[in-house]
Amino acid sequence: MVETWCWSYVGRQGGAQKISLQSRGCVYKSTIQHEVLHALGLTHEQNRSDRDEHVTIVTDNIQPGMEHNFQIVETNNLATPYDYNSVMHYSTYAFSREWGELPTIVPYPDDSVTVGGAKEMSSNDILRVNRLYCSM
Ligand SMILES: [Zn+2]
Repeated sequence: MVETWCWSYVGRQGGAQKISLQSRGCVYKSTIQHEVLHALGLTHEQNRSDRDEHVTIVTDNIQPGMEHNFQIVETNNLATPYDYNSVMHYSTYAFSREWGELPTIVPYPDDSVTVGGAKEMSSNDILRVNRLYCSM
Protein backbone atom coordinates (compact mmCIF):
# COMPACT_ATOMS: atom_id res chain seq x y z
CA MET A 1 0.00 0.00 0.00
CA VAL A 2 1.26 3.45 -0.92
CA GLU A 3 1.38 5.83 2.01
CA THR A 4 -0.43 9.04 1.30
CA TRP A 5 -0.60 12.23 3.20
CA CYS A 6 -3.66 14.36 2.93
CA TRP A 7 -4.30 16.54 5.93
CA SER A 8 -5.43 19.85 7.26
CA TYR A 9 -5.92 21.43 10.67
CA VAL A 10 -9.48 21.87 11.88
CA GLY A 11 -10.40 25.51 12.03
CA ARG A 12 -8.39 28.70 11.85
CA GLN A 13 -4.88 28.52 13.26
CA GLY A 14 -3.86 32.11 12.57
CA GLY A 15 -1.90 33.42 9.60
CA ALA A 16 -1.55 31.42 6.45
CA GLN A 17 -2.83 27.88 6.75
CA LYS A 18 -1.22 24.87 5.22
CA ILE A 19 -3.19 22.00 3.70
CA SER A 20 -1.24 18.91 2.65
CA LEU A 21 -2.27 17.37 -0.66
CA GLN A 22 0.46 14.99 -1.74
CA SER A 23 0.31 14.52 -5.50
CA ARG A 24 -0.07 10.77 -5.13
CA GLY A 25 -3.41 9.93 -3.55
CA CYS A 26 -4.70 13.34 -2.49
CA VAL A 27 -5.47 15.28 -5.62
CA TYR A 28 -9.07 14.25 -6.04
CA LYS A 29 -11.98 16.65 -5.91
CA SER A 30 -13.46 14.95 -2.83
CA THR A 31 -10.15 14.90 -0.92
CA ILE A 32 -9.36 18.53 -1.69
CA GLN A 33 -12.86 19.59 -0.64
CA HIS A 34 -12.55 17.44 2.50
CA GLU A 35 -9.28 19.07 3.59
CA VAL A 36 -10.48 22.59 2.78
CA LEU A 37 -13.64 21.98 4.83
CA HIS A 38 -11.42 21.00 7.78
CA ALA A 39 -9.57 24.29 7.40
CA LEU A 40 -12.94 26.06 7.35
CA GLY A 41 -13.77 24.44 10.68
CA LEU A 42 -15.68 21.26 9.91
CA THR A 43 -14.93 17.92 11.58
CA HIS A 44 -15.61 14.43 10.30
CA GLU A 45 -19.27 13.57 10.05
CA GLN A 46 -18.86 10.43 12.19
CA ASN A 47 -17.41 12.57 15.01
CA ARG A 48 -20.54 14.74 15.24
CA SER A 49 -22.19 15.14 18.61
CA ASP A 50 -25.30 13.28 17.39
CA ARG A 51 -23.57 10.49 15.49
CA ASP A 52 -24.71 7.67 17.82
CA GLU A 53 -28.25 8.26 16.56
CA HIS A 54 -27.10 7.57 12.99
CA VAL A 55 -24.17 5.15 13.05
CA THR A 56 -22.77 2.42 15.29
CA ILE A 57 -19.00 2.47 15.79
CA VAL A 58 -17.68 -1.11 16.06
CA THR A 59 -14.72 -0.55 18.37
CA ASP A 60 -13.56 -4.20 18.23
CA ASN A 61 -12.94 -3.85 14.48
CA ILE A 62 -10.76 -0.72 14.71
CA GLN A 63 -7.00 -1.06 14.30
CA PRO A 64 -5.43 -0.84 17.75
CA GLY A 65 -4.28 2.70 18.43
CA MET A 66 -6.69 4.26 15.93
CA GLU A 67 -9.71 4.49 18.23
CA HIS A 68 -9.19 8.25 18.70
CA ASN A 69 -10.42 8.77 15.13
CA PHE A 70 -13.90 7.82 16.30
CA GLN A 71 -14.29 10.09 19.30
CA ILE A 72 -17.41 12.20 19.52
CA VAL A 73 -16.74 15.94 19.30
CA GLU A 74 -19.10 18.56 20.70
CA THR A 75 -19.86 19.98 17.28
CA ASN A 76 -21.99 22.87 16.12
CA ASN A 77 -24.11 21.03 13.58
CA LEU A 78 -25.48 24.29 12.17
CA ALA A 79 -29.02 22.89 12.20
CA THR A 80 -28.14 20.53 9.35
CA PRO A 81 -28.99 16.82 9.40
CA TYR A 82 -26.47 14.02 9.82
CA ASP A 83 -25.39 13.22 6.27
CA TYR A 84 -24.08 9.83 5.13
CA ASN A 85 -23.21 11.49 1.81
CA SER A 86 -21.12 14.25 3.34
CA VAL A 87 -17.63 14.55 1.90
CA MET A 88 -16.58 14.59 5.59
CA HIS A 89 -17.92 11.08 6.27
CA TYR A 90 -15.49 8.18 6.54
CA SER A 91 -16.31 4.90 4.83
CA THR A 92 -17.63 1.74 6.48
CA TYR A 93 -14.15 0.19 6.74
CA ALA A 94 -12.19 3.26 7.89
CA PHE A 95 -9.28 2.17 10.11
CA SER A 96 -10.56 -1.43 9.99
CA ARG A 97 -8.38 -4.30 11.16
CA GLU A 98 -9.55 -6.07 8.02
CA TRP A 99 -10.70 -3.92 5.11
CA GLY A 100 -13.82 -5.24 3.43
CA GLU A 101 -14.47 -7.74 6.20
CA LEU A 102 -14.77 -5.93 9.52
CA PRO A 103 -16.82 -2.73 9.36
CA THR A 104 -15.99 0.07 11.78
CA ILE A 105 -18.90 2.38 10.90
CA VAL A 106 -22.32 0.76 10.53
CA PRO A 107 -25.27 3.00 9.59
CA TYR A 108 -28.14 2.91 12.05
CA PRO A 109 -30.94 1.91 11.85
CA ASP A 110 -30.52 0.86 8.19
CA ASP A 111 -27.15 -0.88 7.88
CA SER A 112 -27.50 -1.23 4.10
CA VAL A 113 -26.97 2.51 3.52
CA THR A 114 -23.68 3.42 1.86
CA VAL A 115 -21.50 5.84 3.82
CA GLY A 116 -18.35 7.71 2.94
CA GLY A 117 -18.70 7.37 -0.80
CA ALA A 118 -19.04 11.06 -1.59
CA LYS A 119 -17.27 12.23 -4.73
CA GLU A 120 -17.93 15.87 -3.91
CA MET A 121 -19.51 18.12 -1.29
CA SER A 122 -23.11 17.25 -0.51
CA SER A 123 -25.82 19.90 -0.42
CA ASN A 124 -25.56 19.76 3.40
CA ASP A 125 -21.80 20.41 3.25
CA ILE A 126 -22.46 23.49 1.12
CA LEU A 127 -25.25 24.60 3.46
CA ARG A 128 -22.88 24.34 6.45
CA VAL A 129 -20.26 26.58 4.88
CA ASN A 130 -22.96 29.10 3.99
CA ARG A 131 -24.41 29.04 7.52
CA LEU A 132 -20.95 29.36 9.10
CA TYR A 133 -19.63 32.16 6.91
CA CYS A 134 -22.57 33.95 5.31
CA SER A 135 -25.14 35.63 7.48
CA MET A 136 -28.48 35.14 5.79
ZN1 LIG B 1 -10.38 14.47 7.44
